[in-house]
Amino acid sequence: MTNPEKNLGEATRVVTAGRDLKNYAGAVNPPVYHVSTIISKSVAELKAHSIREDGGDQVMTYGRRGSPTSWALENAVAELEGGYRTLAYPSGLAAIAGTLLAFLKSGDHLLMVDSVYAPTRRFCNQVLKRFGVETTYYDPQIDSGIRELLRPNTTVVFTESPGSHTFEMQDIPAIAEVAHAHGAKVLMDNTWASPLFFKPFEHGVDVSIQAGTKYIVGHSDAMLGTVTTTQECWPALSTTTWNMGQCAGPDDLYLAQRGFRTLSVRLQQHYRNGLTVGEWLRSRSEVRQVLHPALPETPGYELWKRDFLGASGLFGIELEPCSEAAVVALLDGMQIFHLGGSWGGYESLVLPTNVRKIRTATPWNFEGPLVRLHVGLESVSDLKDDLAEGFQRLHRAG
Ligand SMILES: *Cc1c(COP(=O)(O)O)cnc(C)c1O
Repeated sequence: MTNPEKNLGEATRVVTAGRDLKNYAGAVNPPVYHVSTIISKSVAELKAHSIREDGGDQVMTYGRRGSPTSWALENAVAELEGGYRTLAYPSGLAAIAGTLLAFLKSGDHLLMVDSVYAPTRRFCNQVLKRFGVETTYYDPQIDSGIRELLRPNTTVVFTESPGSHTFEMQDIPAIAEVAHAHGAKVLMDNTWASPLFFKPFEHGVDVSIQAGTKYIVGHSDAMLGTVTTTQECWPALSTTTWNMGQCAGPDDLYLAQRGFRTLSVRLQQHYRNGLTVGEWLRSRSEVRQVLHPALPETPGYELWKRDFLGASGLFGIELEPCSEAAVVALLDGMQIFHLGGSWGGYESLVLPTNVRKIRTATPWNFEGPLVRLHVGLESVSDLKDDLAEGFQRLHRAG
């Protein structure tokens, strides 16, 4: 439900969106509804509560169909992403899978970006394939050249910008223009930018997915996904989601809506810290290339500058070619950057990555090892020291 007070500043809307101050006895945050059955006062009310196919107007009818705890989060995400409505899922991957199932049917052709989150790729190759959906992977930097890959039965073009390992940017408006002229829907995994740094619906996206597990939750303590759509796409998404019985747990929804309230300050700090560490890394002799969309020498910088409002704390570095033992020496023994997948929490993380065997549309031609960094909210000087000591270990290991 979009807030009509469009002139409020974005930081204000992060605080106010989706909140209901008239209820809950003045509590600032919504209560956590642990609920399945909703008791009706009369047969007439029972009838009114019988499940409405259109999702109704956020009235409690059954635990699976939402509660004030889920609506607080969903309405906040819908408002900040700039879409019509949002549904929460129990994880980001569940949100991606549910969305693909909502917009594809047997016999359809799906265009999937080659830099996509790897579990999304597995879902296409292992699940969608069984249901007769064919997937073609395309170069993330294809722009309007995607026209050549469209087939009469192409119904969905899936995007993710930047990719969360290789950080190539996509020209979303150019892709959307071609896809829409063909009658296909544009889906986007918008996790990297969060609802704050890319506004998908202003750039032609029809359905935007967030792995809420990352920046929305923000504290590495819950799993959650969200899907936000245009009004036109809402019936397809809501019907499929509810038919599949997808719903997130109340405690995780609560943690996500709580994390959401500090999203603007956290993201600004991730942006600043990430860029500072990225700029420092590019001056290091051990680093061949920094893959950070907000650094001017990174391919895709112009698209980032044109379409994005900031950068998150996740980026990559290509090291100068070195032995595997040297990379291990760099990564083992880090004191502040911890080894771990996922990202978006307050803490810094580091991860060795290798996309060579994964990509199928465009080969990954880099020579040095790839390392992904999530720059958290610690003091930047400590983060630099931690990396500098790691580079000393790298040299000692040869
Ligand atoms: C983590 C992640 C997901 C999946 O989210 P989960 O909540 O872990 O299932 C999807 N897309 C991107 C880009 C991610 O980083």
